[in-house]
Amino acid sequence: MEYKMNSNEVTAATQYWLEKRNVRIEDIAELTYALQKDYIDGLTLEECAKSVERVLLKREVQNAVLTGIQLDILCEQGALFAPLQDIIKHDEGLYGVDEILALSVVNIYGSIGLTNFGYIDKMKLGVLKRLNDKTDGCIHTFLDDLVAAIAAAASSRLAHTHQSGSKVDEN
Ligand code: MG
Repeated sequence: MEYKMNSNEVTAATQYWLEKRNVRIEDIAELTYALQKDYIDGLTLEECAKSVERVLLKREVQNAVLTGIQLDILCEQGALFAPLQDIIKHDEGLYGVDEILALSVVNIYGSIGLTNFGYIDKMKLGVLKRLNDKTDGCIHTFLDDLVAAIAAAASSRLAHTHQSGSKVDEN
């Protein structure tokens, strides 16, 4: 029998696992704010947080987040087979599947997300620095890219809703 996922369950699971990995909506909103503050007059952290919440309601984003966090956790448990275990544990530069998974999130509001993603991924701002430095002793090979991607998508969404100075659609 085919298992049909209930969308509220998937949303709740996504929120649960992000919190469990110590990533709050506000942390992602800060990245979005840093990306858009120079382009949108009067932008607030609260509006950025709302945009992040909207991004997190998209099923393709939820699927990517759940998959990435699950792989990070399996790696912490040493449960992956070789050579994946070591590749993901050490976040090897040539692996790239973590970025590819994140791209499915980056592109949901069009290609401007890609520029935003590249920028924050490079700057390692805020929560990304903590995830990247692994100061909490956890593996975040997938989650750091996913968080950057969610912030980039939320930023693209804001850019679209504020185009030509007036707020448009509420996608
Ligand atoms: Mg990574």
